[in-house]
Amino acid sequence: MARYAILIDYEYCTGCHTCEMACRVEYDFPQGRNGIVVNEIGPWHIEGDSWQFDYIPVLTDECTLCAARVEKGKQPSCVQHCQAAVMTYGKVSELSARLEDKGKQILIVK
Ligand code: SF4
Ligand code: SF4
Repeated sequence: MARYAILIDYEYCTGCHTCEMACRVEYDFPQGRNGIVVNEIGPWHIEGDSWQFDYIPVLTDECTLCAARVEKGKQPSCVQHCQAAVMTYGKVSELSARLEDKGKQILIVK
């Protein structure tokens, strides 16, 4: 049976937190719980013009990959509402191939 996942190209994540809001509204999570959390790394200076400053969204154990929405042919709510279109839902076998394309991507398998 195919497994499903969400691929996040966090190089272009703006840290807008819309994915968190989309999940909270969809599932009515109380404050402090959610299916996705946007983590902030940095900013810190590495050397010269090089800095680390990234937003890295991570799915929590509350995330169901929006199974009910997907069954109806919709995208997961966070994927649909991502403001920078950096999230992709799909089969692990297909999404994992895209990890070869570039760095600063994470594949979260449920
Ligand atoms: S896939 Fe659905 S349940 Fe999981 S984080 Fe996104 S909106 Fe929340
Ligand atoms: S909605 Fe998209 S761009 Fe905004 S924080 Fe979430 S993953 Fe990043």
